[in-house]
Amino acid sequence: MQTRESSAERIEVVFTAEAIAAAIDRMARAIAADYAEADLRIVAILKGAMFVVSDLSRALATLPGGPRPTLDFMAVSSYGNDTRSSGEVRLLKDTSESVEGCNVLIVEDIVDNGLTLHYLQGLLRSRAPKSLKTAVLLDKPYRRLADVRLDYVGLVAPDAFVVGYGLDYQERYRTLPFVANLILPSGESAR
Ligand code: 5GP
Repeated sequence: MQTRESSAERIEVVFTAEAIAAAIDRMARAIAADYAEADLRIVAILKGAMFVVSDLSRALATLPGGPRPTLDFMAVSSYGNDTRSSGEVRLLKDTSESVEGCNVLIVEDIVDNGLTLHYLQGLLRSRAPKSLKTAVLLDKPYRRLADVRLDYVGLVAPDAFVVGYGLDYQERYRTLPFVANLILPSGESAR
């Protein structure tokens, strides 16, 4: 399906809202089975993971015997492509509560080269949580620069720049209920 979003760019649906909901449901069941009645602190990464965490945490809340997580948030910004590949990530917002001694689950929107998640996992691990796992809705495994462990993956995305369901292009497209490939006027996928 193709949707004309503006005269300059177009988007092509990659994952429908239904496919995303099914993936979130699968992730919630796997997480619920692993944590059972244990306390769970979700740390979601803003802004991209805002819809993932809201749907995932409510899916967990409706599973019998599943964890009733508490929510906290971090925000990071990666620099431009050159500095990103050096692993430079800037912390814009830290968690409100200490994670020491907690079962922490990082919830991320998408992993590409892995440097952002590598930074976050290292930072949180240094704070002595009881356990640390990562759930990511979209995995793009094609250009990894950092070896990151993903414990729960929703969907494997194509090797393209995707938007929607929290993911932006220059702050636009976040509120789309589906995930789409963003194609620039040149006909190429955005980067
Ligand atoms: P990484 O450090 O793994 O390359 O990238 C992680 C961050 O880059 C994500 O949290 C997201 O903000 C951004 N990113 C990576 N791939 C995409 C993509 O296909 N679309 C969008 N909108 N952002 C992406």
